[in-house]
Amino acid sequence: MRVLLVEDDVRISRDVTELLVANGYIVDHEVDGEKAWFKGGTEDYAAVILDLGLPQMDGLSVLKKWRSEERLFPVLVLSARGTWRERVEGIDAGADDYLPKPFEMDELLARLRAVIRRSAGHAAPTMTHGEVTLDPIKMRVSVKGVPKSLSPQEYRLISYLMHHKGRVVPQQELAEHLHGEYEERESNAVEVLVGRLRRKLGVELIETHRGFGYVVGANGP
Ligand code: CA
Repeated sequence: MRVLLVEDDVRISRDVTELLVANGYIVDHEVDGEKAWFKGGTEDYAAVILDLGLPQMDGLSVLKKWRSEERLFPVLVLSARGTWRERVEGIDAGADDYLPKPFEMDELLARLRAVIRRSAGHAAPTMTHGEVTLDPIKMRVSVKGVPKSLSPQEYRLISYLMHHKGRVVPQQELAEHLHGEYEERESNAVEVLVGRLRRKLGVELIETHRGFGYVVGANGP
């Protein structure tokens, strides 16, 4: 999952980035509101973590612009100025959740998982398809209850497909959620990972729609 972190505080940015990377996310980081607005308008994100007090353009304006441009990714707002009026304003502007500073890192992670899950249409914390279960809290995939050992990229790929169960996800979109901004990308990376996942989790789990992309659960549960 690729996440955009928009935060101008150096220490918080560093801590949150470390936390997200350690939990399997790909993180793009922007410091100023205008650049963040551009990034969110051009890249594909599973979620955005947005500070409100930012240089160039404040977070609330960035959020309003995104929503007026039909950028619908879930947004988790961070703010030091946590009055109820601001929370209401943020949520009315299109925020999906709100976390006042200072916050506990575990709470940030839990809220992020929840907004990503809900935006993909899942209410329960774990996702199941056939005999395969994905647990985003433990970052674990099991088959018939037996945990499987996956590489970080394998996990990211199957996690993305399970979150978007029933939708054919284009190869390019999957690739966006596998690699960091400055990581080398191999053109056949997605195919290679799908091959490995089929060996580990069962051949029927991921279907190929030639020329379109990949899907988990094209024909229901
Ligand atoms: Ca700030």
